[in-house]
Amino acid sequence: MSAQTARVAPAAQTAQRARATTPPTAAEVRAVVADVPDPEVPVLTIEDLGILRDVAVDDDGRVRVTITPTYSGCPAMDAIRADVLDRLHAAGHGDADVRLVLSPAWTTDWMSDAGKRKLREYGIAPPSPTRSHGGGDGRPVPLALSIRCPQCGSPDTRELSRFGSTACKALWCCNACLEPFDSFKAI
Ligand SMILES: [Zn+2]
Repeated sequence: MSAQTARVAPAAQTAQRARATTPPTAAEVRAVVADVPDPEVPVLTIEDLGILRDVAVDDDGRVRVTITPTYSGCPAMDAIRADVLDRLHAAGHGDADVRLVLSPAWTTDWMSDAGKRKLREYGIAPPSPTRSHGGGDGRPVPLALSIRCPQCGSPDTRELSRFGSTACKALWCCNACLEPFDSFKAI
């Protein structure tokens, strides 16, 4: 009995060491997938959008990435999912799974400040905050924000169409510089 235990123990220890050195950390995996771009607005990454919800690595090194779709039925999600898997496989994480989680539903409030800045620089008005109370950073958020023109910054703008180049954007026009622009719909 004790001889049998002695034979088994070293093997178990070796397996344990192998497992301990092989799995990447969740942070390492996150770095691999965080800058996957949104196919519709390529300047935005899934991290900017706030749709990269979770990255987990279990004891066996199995990777699970959780993303939440922006708009239900958004065709970009299939491309994003495939892109995330491609990057995981290329980084050597063959045993990977990408889960889509619908609840809680994504809102444009999840978009990072960096993402909103990139949108503006890209010529798209970023979404206004949807919450009427203070933002996450404690600053008060005005109840009604006008959409500012991303070209000249004027708040004197009007909506031309609820549907811009994609379903998640509306077409607006600036009364000051007369330029049309896409506005990312706040939801
Ligand atoms: Zn303007």
